[in-house]
Order: sequence, then C-alpha cells, then structure tokens
Amino acid sequence: MKLNKKDKFNKELPSDPVLENSRRQVSEACFSYVTPKQTSKPKLLHVSPQMLENLGLSEDDAKSEDFLKVFTGNSVLEKTKPYAMCYGGHQFGNWAGQLGDGRAINLCEVEHNGKNWALQLKGAGETPYSRTADGLAVLRSSIREYLCSEAMFHLGVPTTRALSLALSGDQVLRDVMYDGNPAYEKGAIVCRTAESFLRFGNYQIFAARQDDNNLKVLVDYTIKHHFSHLGEPSKETYLAFFEEVTNRTLDMIIDWQRVGFVHGVMNTDNMSILGLTIDFGPYGWLEGYDYGWTPNTTDRLHKRYRYGNQPNIGLWNLLQLANAIYPLIEDAEPLEVILNQYKTDFESGRLDMLRAKLGLQNKDENDASFFLELEDVLHLTETDMTIFFRSLADFKKESTSNGLEVIADAFYKPDEIVGNIEKRWKDWFVNYSKRLQKESLSDEHRKEKMNLVNPKYILRNYMAQLAIDDADEGKYELIDELFQMLKKPYDEQPEYEKWFAKRPDWARHKVGCSMLSCSS
Ligand code: AMP
Ligand code: MG
Repeated sequence: MKLNKKDKFNKELPSDPVLENSRRQVSEACFSYVTPKQTSKPKLLHVSPQMLENLGLSEDDAKSEDFLKVFTGNSVLEKTKPYAMCYGGHQFGNWAGQLGDGRAINLCEVEHNGKNWALQLKGAGETPYSRTADGLAVLRSSIREYLCSEAMFHLGVPTTRALSLALSGDQVLRDVMYDGNPAYEKGAIVCRTAESFLRFGNYQIFAARQDDNNLKVLVDYTIKHHFSHLGEPSKETYLAFFEEVTNRTLDMIIDWQRVGFVHGVMNTDNMSILGLTIDFGPYGWLEGYDYGWTPNTTDRLHKRYRYGNQPNIGLWNLLQLANAIYPLIEDAEPLEVILNQYKTDFESGRLDMLRAKLGLQNKDENDASFFLELEDVLHLTETDMTIFFRSLADFKKESTSNGLEVIADAFYKPDEIVGNIEKRWKDWFVNYSKRLQKESLSDEHRKEKMNLVNPKYILRNYMAQLAIDDADEGKYELIDELFQMLKKPYDEQPEYEKWFAKRPDWARHKVGCSMLSCSS
C-alpha cells in the first residue's frame, strides 16, 4: 500500500512535549503524539471506492492485511507519527475549556492528484483529551458517520468524508438513554478524511489561554495551507480569512437547510474552519417539515440546535471565532461588518435556495411572503419535506387543481387535509401557478432543474437504524445497499424506489429513528 505522505500539521506546528498517553491539560501546543490502541479482532465492513481513488489506492490495496491493520489502528504507517489535536469549545452555549480529539487519532496527511487529505481514525482509543471517556466508538454511531458523510458529499454539501468502516472486535460499554442501564455494544472504527480537521475550537483554546503567539502560529499555518490565495499574513489577510470562513459556513448551512439535515450538536468544537460538515453524532433528517425539530435527546428541552435555528447558531459560533482571533486584528468593527453581512447574505441565500427548490428562475418582490406562506402551510400538518419538494416537480403550471394530488404522498395524515388546511394549500397552489406562469421555463425543463436540488434519496433516520439493527446481527448487506443508493441522491433509481417513502409508523418513536442520544 503506497500513500504519498505529506505531513504538515505535526511537522510545522508546536507539539506537546509530553509523550505519555495520560489525560491532562495541554498548553502551548496544537497536538499530542499518541499511538492508536491494538484491537482484538479487526474486520473491515466497508470501504469507499471513491475515497480509495482519491488517495491513490486500489481495490487490491483495500483487501490487503496492511490496509486492515493501518485503518483499525493496529499498525502505524512507516515514517508517520499519529497525533490527537488540542481544541476547546462552547458546548450548548457555554465555554467548556479544553476538549480535543478524545477519540480521534490523526494518522497522516496524503497528497494525491493535487488534493490534500488528512486521515483520521475515530474510535481508536484514548488520548490525552479523552477526559472521563474511553476513546472508543460503537458500531451504531460509526455506521451513521460512515454512511452520512459520504451521502452528504454526493448531495453536494461540503463535508468530511470516510474511507473505511471496521469492527474492532472489542466490546464497548454504553448507556444509550443515560438511564443507568449500560450495555455492551460492538466497537468500531471509521477512518475519516478531510483537507483538514481544524475546528473553531482549535483557535478558541489559544485565545482562552491568552496565548496570542500560538494563536498567530495556527492562524498563519491555516492561511498558508488552506487559504493560500489570501496571501501573506497581515491584519487585512486575517479579516479576509474570517470573511471566507463566514461565507463557507453560511453556504454549508444553506445546503443543510436545502436538504433537511439537522446536525444536532453545533458546538464550536464541531465547526470546521473549512466550512465542512463535521462530527456526525446525533444528527437527523427532517421527515415532517418542522422548524422546531431536533434529533438530539440532550437538546430536547431548549432545542438550541433545531432545524430552524441552525443559521442563527452558525452566526453565534462565528461570533465566538471572531472573538478568538480578535487579538490578531485588534479592531472589532470590520469583524462586526462581516458578521452583519452574514445576516443579509443568509436572507438572500435562503430566498435563492427556496427559489431553486420551487423551480423559480426570476426574483419577485413577493417571494419572501410567498415562501413564508408555504412554510406555514407545510407546518399545518406533518408533511414530508423530501417527498413534498421532489413531487412538486410534477406540478403543471397551467393547472391549479392537481397540486394536492401531486404532493399527496407527502402527508403523514392525509385525512387532515380538509377544511382550512385544504383551503390554504389550494390557495398556495393558485399562487404558485400564477408565479410559474410569469416564467418562461416549460414544465418539463423546470422539473429537470428542481430535481437537481431536491434529492429523492436521503439517509432517513430509520434507514440508518435498519442497517444498524442488521449489522448488530452480523448482516452487512444493507450498509452497502444504502451506500450505493446514496451515491446518486438526485437520480431516479427504480431499483431503490422503496426508499423513496415516508418514515414508517413503527419508526416514529423508536430510539435511533426519531431521537438520538450523544452516547456513541
Ligand atoms: P462530540 O460531542 O462528539 O463532538 O464530543 C465532544 C468532546 O468529547 C470531544 O472532545 C470528543 O473528542 C470527546 N468525546 C466524545 N466521545 C468520546 C469518547 N468515547 N472517548 C473520549 N472522548 C470522547
Ligand atoms: Mg466533536
């Protein structure tokens, strides 16, 4: 197995001088060296063919003993020095101090075809940042991360990716519902990949410790390797850097809103500096279109990270990043200008996104109120987001009467579509028809365009859970089936038509399907 290794992070940035793998506070360093844990019976369950190709590896490589050992942490690649990163973060709005890679271990960086990839094992054992936990991951959460990160990529949403999913062969103790009933589950390891795994929290930790020197070292490093088009470090460059992080974060969140993805734990340690979706934990996909929905049981009370609040939280997190890099800029005003711009850009980006989802090409002064009415109507009775937007592409603009027929499959309780609810839908379709008639696009052409932004296939929560239930019994076929299907989320795939359906009733209140805990 030949990888074109190009380590930068652990070669150019300050390391923790302590080599012992003990839990501790690590200051004036970006990372600590650490060796992954040996596992008792590693077994590969799935490998992403595209990621192999991206790294310059072959299918044969993936079948080698070497591959299995390296990507389950059982052997260390020649001339590499694995490490865990140090970062802090705000969790649920409160500063939590040092967090760090508690169960992620970076193996090395690879350059191939002009692209750079950091390779990281999740669940490969304890690190200095493991705090009170074990550094391990269970199969259920690993399947969810593996499938969802690749699915997001194919949806066109910026994201970290995944190379491989493996069983460790060890048992891991977890209390899923936090109710004092822990049980053993299968341990697993995902190798995930990204140009960089740097998070807002990597900068925050230096700012919190008033370590401006290392803050500058890390920001300069980030610009040099990941934002090099911005030029040499200076106050202007730092501002341009912050502006680009802001824009990328915003674009990512608008994409989340477009496909109905709810991250679930938008803490600042889970915000990528590159604007990638990172850390797939208790995330979920909207079924009924609902601004108030969060998949995360830990967030049940305040719903801080609910679907409709993701854009605001993005802004709040960016404010924390602005505070963190402020010592390098020492001027609050231009940072505030960028943050204010986020609000304006979000509003216009949201309107553009909804126009695309509705197949509208031209702007109209009434768009904002027209979309608001749609969102209101969508909330009146449980209406499946994905099925609604996908089916809407079949609406004929000359017709006002077929609207409700076209979207009929999207309703969880069709018998509620009577009286006022029915009337509001009908009125909305009258307006939609009028709006479409102002445009030149044919019905056929509009459908093609809508189908490029409204996915047909998403990783519904119950689908991931079915794959998990099978895998618990040693059956792994469904992981591959979902993986294959999710590669083409916008295509008609008749062989997978059964996955274009509302959440089945049994999944409504089942753990893992409607609600997820952070325990992973
Ligand atoms: P998360 O909410 O998954 O983003 O995790 C928050 C923090 O807890 C990060 O510093 C993680 O590395 C750490 N963490 C989560 N689970 C574990 C675990 N099983 N062992 C060690 N650290 C963990
Ligand atoms: Mg995290």
